[in-house]
Amino acid sequence: MVARYPELRHFIAGQWQGGAGDRHWPVRNPATGERLADLPLAGEAEVAAALAAAQRGFALWSGLTALERFAVLRRASDRMRARASEIGEIMTLEQGKPLAEAVREVTLSADVIDFLAEEGKRAYGRVVPSRSGDILSQVVMKVPVGPVAALTPWNFPANLPSRKIGGALAAGCSCILKPAENTPGTAVMLVECFAEAGLPEGVLNLVLGEPGPIARQLVTAPATRKVSFTGSLVVGREIGALAAAGMKRFTPELGGHAPVLVLEDADIAAVVARSVTAKYRNAGQICTSPTRFFVARPAYARFVEAFAAAASALTLGNGLERGTEMGPLAHERRLAAMERLVAQTQAAGGRLATGGRRLDGAGYFFQPTVMRDVPAEAPLMREEPFGPIAAIMPFDSLGLAVAMANSLAYGLAAYVFTADLERAHGVSAALEAGMVGVNHYGISQPETPFGGVKESGYGSESGMEGLLGYMDTKLISLGRPVGRSAPL
Ligand code: NAD
Repeated sequence: MVARYPELRHFIAGQWQGGAGDRHWPVRNPATGERLADLPLAGEAEVAAALAAAQRGFALWSGLTALERFAVLRRASDRMRARASEIGEIMTLEQGKPLAEAVREVTLSADVIDFLAEEGKRAYGRVVPSRSGDILSQVVMKVPVGPVAALTPWNFPANLPSRKIGGALAAGCSCILKPAENTPGTAVMLVECFAEAGLPEGVLNLVLGEPGPIARQLVTAPATRKVSFTGSLVVGREIGALAAAGMKRFTPELGGHAPVLVLEDADIAAVVARSVTAKYRNAGQICTSPTRFFVARPAYARFVEAFAAAASALTLGNGLERGTEMGPLAHERRLAAMERLVAQTQAAGGRLATGGRRLDGAGYFFQPTVMRDVPAEAPLMREEPFGPIAAIMPFDSLGLAVAMANSLAYGLAAYVFTADLERAHGVSAALEAGMVGVNHYGISQPETPFGGVKESGYGSESGMEGLLGYMDTKLISLGRPVGRSAPL
C-alpha cells in the first residue's frame, strides 16, 4: 500500500474547501472496521455555492467547442490512467473490492470518459427539407441541457461517477457530483484528475455529506436541469418525484435481480466457472449481478454441485492482500440483510448448498452463498440481494422459466446460456430486460448503452445514448427576412 487516503473536502468553483468541521461522519474500511477519515457534511450554504458555480461553469463550458472540451477531458482520462494504482488502492480501502478489480475499474472509467468525449464531437443534428420557399433552413441541433446533479452509490465509486461526469461534460453541461458517503476518497481523487487537467472552474463540483438533504437541495434547485441517479428503487422514486415536480430530465438506474437461463445443451462446467466469477465479483454488489439461476432439470444437479464447490473455494479477504478473490461487503448493514435473506429462504423451503454465514472477527465478510430449490414465494426471489447469494432453481419448461425470469418489476440485465442459436435468439427477445447477455456476462462496456426497463429505470448511460441523455433537441427554423423575395 503506497497511496495516502486523501483529505476529504468539497470542490466548489475550482477550490477545495471545508474540511471536517463540527459536522462529520466516519468513513470506515469495510475489511477491518477501522476509521479511515471524517467525511465533512456539506450544509445548505455549500450546496448553494456549488449550484451557483455550476451555473457559471455551464455558461463558460457550453460556449467552448466540442473539440476544446475533448482536449480537457482527454487530459483528465490520462491523469486517471497515470493514477490508476493509487486511486485503486483508496477504492479498495474504503469499498473493499480486490485491488485488481479496483485498478481495472479506474482504467475502464478513463475509457468511458474517452469514449464520451470522442462522441461529443459527433453530436450531430440534421437539416430538415423545408415545406415553404420562405423558410431557408430548418436545423435540428443537439444542445447541452444545463447544470447536472449526479448522485452516485458506493459499489462502483469510479465508474458510476465517470459515466455521469463524462456524459455531462462531453455534452457541454456542468456537473455537481454527490458521491456515496462511504466512498468519498475515490470521488475526491477522480475530481483531482479533472482539476489537474485544467478543467475551468465551476464545470465540475463535488459536495460530500448526508445524501438525503443534499440530494433534495440539488434536485429542487431551479439551476439544476438534469438529475442522474444510481441507487435503490425506494430512493430513486423519491428523487424522481422531486425531479418531475420541476420538469427536470431524470435518468434513474435502480438495480436489478438478473435471471440466468441455463439450457440443457450448454457446456455446464464452463457456464459454472463463468457464473461463479460473475456472481461473486464485487461480493455480488452489482446491479447486473446474476442472482436467479434457472437451470434445465437434466443439468440441475451437476450445476448446483459444481457451483457450490467453486463458490466455497473462493478466497475471502482484505482486497489489498494478494490472492483475495472476494472482499467484504461495503458496510455493516448489508450483513444483516444477507442473514435475513438466508433465514427467510430456508423458512420458505429453500436449501443451503454452501455458505450462509458472516465471518467472525473484524470486517463485514459474508460467505459466498448458494441456495438451491428456492421457492418462487421466498423473498430472495423478489428482493435484490445485492450481495454474495445465488439462488438456483430447476426448470422443466423453457416457456415457464422465461415467465419466471420476467415475473419481477425489475428489468435491468438477464442472461441465457445455450449452444442453440435459434433458442438463444428467441429467449433473448422474450426476456424483459434492458440488457441481455447471451453466453457471457460482462455486458457493460464504455461503448454500449447501459440501462434498464420496468422499475429498474429508464434511459441509458455510456454508449452514444449516454451522451444524448445530457442533450436537448433544439430546432432553428431560419426564414427569409420579412418583405424580401428570393434574390435569384
Ligand atoms: P441506500 O438506499 O441506503 O443507499 C444507496 C445509495 O443511495 C447510497 O449511495 C446513498 O448515498 C444513496 N442515498 C440514500 N438515501 C438517499 C437519499 N435520500 N437521496 C439521495 N441519495 C440517497 O442502500 P444501501 O444499504 O447503501 O444499499 C442497498 C441497496 O441499494 C441495494 O439493495 C441496492 O438495491 C441499492 N443499490 C443499488 C445500486 C445500483 O447500482 N443500482 C448501487 C448501490 C446500492
